[in-house]
Amino acid sequence: MKNQAFPIYSQPCGWNALLPNREARPPATGQLDVQYVVVGAGFTGMAAARRLCQLNPNASIVLLEASTVGEGSSARNSGFLTREEYPSNSSAPAIEQNKVLNGFNREAFDDLKQIIEDHQIACDFHTSGRIRAAATADGANTLRTIQQALEATGHTTQTLDESKLHHLIGTSYYKFGVHTDTGHLVQPAALIRGMLSALPQQVEVHENSPVLDLNQHGKKWQLKTSSAQITADQVIMATNASVKYFGYLQDKVVTIHTYAGITEPLKPSEIASFGSLESWGVLPAHRLGTTVRRVGADRLLVRSLYAYENSLSESVVHDALHSRFHKRYPELSHIRLEHVWGGVTALTLNGSPYVGCLEPGLYASAGCNGSGIVKGTALGSYMAELALSNKPNSQILKAYGTANKILPDPFRALGFKVVSAWESRKAGLES
Ligand SMILES: Cc1cc2nc3c(=O)[nH]c(=O)nc-3n(C[C@H](O)[C@H](O)[C@H](O)COP(=O)(O)OP(=O)(O)OC[C@H]3O[C@@H](n4cnc5c(N)ncnc54)[C@H](O)[C@@H]3O)c2cc1C
Repeated sequence: MKNQAFPIYSQPCGWNALLPNREARPPATGQLDVQYVVVGAGFTGMAAARRLCQLNPNASIVLLEASTVGEGSSARNSGFLTREEYPSNSSAPAIEQNKVLNGFNREAFDDLKQIIEDHQIACDFHTSGRIRAAATADGANTLRTIQQALEATGHTTQTLDESKLHHLIGTSYYKFGVHTDTGHLVQPAALIRGMLSALPQQVEVHENSPVLDLNQHGKKWQLKTSSAQITADQVIMATNASVKYFGYLQDKVVTIHTYAGITEPLKPSEIASFGSLESWGVLPAHRLGTTVRRVGADRLLVRSLYAYENSLSESVVHDALHSRFHKRYPELSHIRLEHVWGGVTALTLNGSPYVGCLEPGLYASAGCNGSGIVKGTALGSYMAELALSNKPNSQILKAYGTANKILPDPFRALGFKVVSAWESRKAGLES
């Protein structure tokens, strides 16, 4: 991934493999001259393009995607919609900031939900509640702190013990859990594909069109793909961590690879192992821990492992995901993960994304820290507003915070390895 203009994956996205094939939009060719180019057709890019149309219905807009819609990270994720975040601590300023942040998250979530309804996007959208679960005493302590923060911001939570967790999700692996009623799940590849179909005709979409070069020429921007040269008044970079390739945000954003697998379909007798809830997702107590969720009627997903900048070998990923799934569901140890894949995401040191104007006419958002479906939607819309108004919205910037600087390599790589080794040890059985 290091120094690549766009992510290249060795394994196809499992969510996309569960859907019928689709025909990609044709790549960009020749010379184009437009007002706006949005680079990246993930949730951030889709939101930016949609908002540009709303604000300027006559604008010429091109959306360029390096790969195909359904194969990027916006489809490779676990499908948890994070509408409500919790404050970092229970102080009054942190609670106030969280309230404003969740106001923006809710707006973006409502936008997504409205599009799903209006365009009848069959993306298995479920209001499933959210379970955070811990396998260790340390993990349980972390969850108790999160529970306090959730309650301090007005959420009703329910404490779950081992037997209640077993009843709900069919595993005795976890010893302590916290349930809130604010969780939502989707089939992410179906959602991002639906978002593409829902875009106004005004947006000219080109897939298999990675931007390889980006330069300023006078007041305009010039972008090159292998088969097109595009001139634009304004460019919105919605590429997440790939923006680093173009020389931006290298001191703020780190590329992280993380991995997921979906089981083969289970027989009705085996489905009883999933517990009594029809739709559920479990987040770990520790941020380097493992996510598990139910997928449709008869499959499970497990997401785990993190790697800094470079991807892990397929066999390591395969073995680790199987082992983490079977530890939780030993009675399903004969069940294989039918699809295993990786995806990149971008982390920042302080957990806040970068969003803003990099240079006149050039905007970027990166670093949604693993919750980019909703946050990317919020920040994509905001970039379009910024591009049109040129007025930063201090409320948004205050709510989401801004990514701070990280040390350059080799200190950054070393720092990440030390922190992740320490955190992985701390995560222990949570992973
Ligand atoms: C395994 C996994 C699980 C996750 N689970 C969740 C979850 O449950 N919930 C959640 O909210 N988030 C989750 N995330 C994070 C989430 O996927 C990202 O935050 C989200 O995809 C960010 O959206 P985005 O549009 O900003 O970036 P992306 O989805 O990465 O979209 C950027 C797009 O830009 C394209 N691109 C990059 N470079 C170029 C270029 N040079 N030219 C043209 N196009 C380019 C890419 O191909 C890509 O499609 C997970 C991530 C992974 C990998």
